Amino acid sequence: MKRLLKGGRVVDPASKLDGAYDVLIDGDRIARVGRDLPPEGAAVMEVPRGFVVVPGLIDMHVHLREPGQEHKETIATGARSAVAGGFTAVACMPNTSPVNDGASITELILKKAAEANLARVYPIGAVSRGSQGELLADIAELHKAGCCAISDDGRPVATALLMRRALEYASMFDMPVIDHCEDPSLKSDGVAHEGFVASTLGLRGLPAAAETIIVQRDITLAGLTGGHFHVAHMSVRGALAAVREGKRHGFPVTCEVAPHHFVLTDRQLEHPVQYDTNCKMNPPLREQADVEAMIEGLVDGSIDVIATDHAPHAADEKRQEFDRAPFGIVGLETCVPLVLDRLVHTGKISLARAVELLSVNPARIIRRAGGTLAEGSVADITVLAPDQSVTIVASALASKSKNTPFDGWTLKGAAAATIVGGRTVYTNPGVSGAGVFA
Ligand SMILES: [Zn+2]
Repeated sequence: MKRLLKGGRVVDPASKLDGAYDVLIDGDRIARVGRDLPPEGAAVMEVPRGFVVVPGLIDMHVHLREPGQEHKETIATGARSAVAGGFTAVACMPNTSPVNDGASITELILKKAAEANLARVYPIGAVSRGSQGELLADIAELHKAGCCAISDDGRPVATALLMRRALEYASMFDMPVIDHCEDPSLKSDGVAHEGFVASTLGLRGLPAAAETIIVQRDITLAGLTGGHFHVAHMSVRGALAAVREGKRHGFPVTCEVAPHHFVLTDRQLEHPVQYDTNCKMNPPLREQADVEAMIEGLVDGSIDVIATDHAPHAADEKRQEFDRAPFGIVGLETCVPLVLDRLVHTGKISLARAVELLSVNPARIIRRAGGTLAEGSVADITVLAPDQSVTIVASALASKSKNTPFDGWTLKGAAAATIVGGRTVYTNPGVSGAGVFA
């Protein structure tokens, strides 16, 4: 079956395209991109004025909670949340219960994702067995079963030696090692960014140095081994400085930042709601200088990826005193509006740079298809409505969990439609004109 997206603005930085083009889809592939393509029997979708056609967005850091914590999210509800947020693919962290440290869990995830048949789901395997930080997991087996990367996310790779071995083994399979960079001894039982706000509120601190130290350790080891180290959810300026230094040396290091770390500061813990557990995440909301550094890194190219760290938790789990509530917020359905509103409409980055951060670079880092609309590539496409105003309504999220600090925010920019393998899997009912893609 052929479909023709006619008359939209196409932004495909991998092909250096930004302009009015038609996109012809044949089955699950992009057949042609060009001007005034003849329909040749294709079903024609007239792209509404102002919409932008981009390569499918990829969120390389999500928690889908299945197996083990299906009351928070399942692979099916997570995949539905992904496509509702404009993501055609997600990579899911292994800190499920049991941990994804072997082929059987990886295969279960892939089977559930195939049944859901919405976003592509790329499992990330554990670095160590049970993510216990002792014995390496069977990385060859994880790779063979379909994992795109390894990580002990939720906690750091426990020791420098384990990280060294992980980088060595993973590089044999051309996989990155994604590390949750946080020194456990400095982290202790902290719950909020160590600084003025946490002191004022009487919350135990998580120092920025806990992140920077592990990023520095891992960059040193990437240099030693030549293995690809990817920094998960970077949040502090010291870590960014270390990444820049590593890149300057030509070390294989990449990094991601989550929207809440370039939109919110720890001031959010004071206002508008004091001790809002929907502002409790790990890494925590940092101070203004860190937020500014993250934006600078997004602008100047030293940050590679925007990833959401989508971390669903049930309402009753979050409805506890701040110290006891679990870390994390949902992110899949708020990312596109935040990026468009806060980065693109403010003129900080171009739409092409946003596509690099949300599609081109994640595809390259996890070595998966996508990130381009070039002829012959997979027909994973996101249609954006950058001028559409949206109000985030937590209760209306497709995710099973509603833990977001952005409830009630009005932002400019939305995902209008999500196309995976040539098939429309989502059209946004809140965007007029999105129905043409159904
Ligand atoms: Zn993490």
